[in-house]
Amino acid sequence: GGLALGIDIGGTKVAAGVVDGNGAILAQLRRDTPGRDARAVEAVIVELVNELDAKYHVESIGIGAAGWMDLDGSTVVFSPHLAWREEPLRQTLEAMLGRPVLVTNDADAAGWAEWRFGAGRGQNRLVMLTLGTGIGGALVMDGRVERGSFGMAGEFGHQIIMPGGHRCECGNRGCWEQYASGNALGREGRELAKKHSPMAAGLLGAVNGRGKDITGTVVTELALQGEATAKELVAEVGEWLGLGIANLAAALDPALFIIGGGLSTAGELLLEPARRAYARNLTGRGYRKEAHITVAQLGPAAGLIGAADLARVRAHKERDAS
Ligand code: BGC
Ligand code: ZN
Repeated sequence: GGLALGIDIGGTKVAAGVVDGNGAILAQLRRDTPGRDARAVEAVIVELVNELDAKYHVESIGIGAAGWMDLDGSTVVFSPHLAWREEPLRQTLEAMLGRPVLVTNDADAAGWAEWRFGAGRGQNRLVMLTLGTGIGGALVMDGRVERGSFGMAGEFGHQIIMPGGHRCECGNRGCWEQYASGNALGREGRELAKKHSPMAAGLLGAVNGRGKDITGTVVTELALQGEATAKELVAEVGEWLGLGIANLAAALDPALFIIGGGLSTAGELLLEPARRAYARNLTGRGYRKEAHITVAQLGPAAGLIGAADLARVRAHKERDAS
């Protein structure tokens, strides 16, 4: 079959790739997400499409965006981390690119990719969680992504897990993504540095003493290198992750949770404490089967692979119908 182009628009990074029918990436490009400027984000999308299409001549284009889509995927209703508010993104992009574009939520795209090509193959009910700027969520069941009544199912990151807790970009306080995302990890690192904690020496060493530059990515990389404080911070985030997963298990009872997004590169440093907290908080423990928690097989690229594949699947369906 032909090639599809997928773009994953997160709060921090835009990743684009050309994907074949087996979910393999043939070429990939990355940019920083331009600050809170909807027009600038659209310009980056067009630039990336043109650059990749010139070489690969793609047949279909899919966008996974960090926002809440209406059911038919035409409007980004709201995005906590981006500038879109009631944004007719599909129409705008189709006009700019001169062809059909599929638009969906970034985590829904990632969940689809893991179900089709990754850790979720053969599963009939799985939950995908992407940990980055926020927490993205998707419920993939019976071979499709469950979108809810209005398109907004799977916004697990905004479950309030700590009433009165940290303010979230969605406006509420105490959302799960304020405790178990890459951003949460960065914030905890910066806070340690600001308090002149002796524990922060290793973190500060990695950013030339500039505490403000401590991000989730910085802490994750340090943890993987074995830095003690970074490992502790990742483990703490892992515990919050496990607690939220226990809540999701009570509501949805999937057999598998797949953890993706940038923070998932921490691997077992994150998952081991998450599994322990999950087990500790799981309701009915000992009298029920326990879901597995595993890392995304496609890594942080799952979103772009899924967006491309959803666009390909839709294009094929339309072709078969005509
Ligand atoms: C948004 C989701 C998005 C997730 C990951 C959350 O804050 O509400 O729509 O999937 O971040 O990007
Ligand atoms: Zn929130």
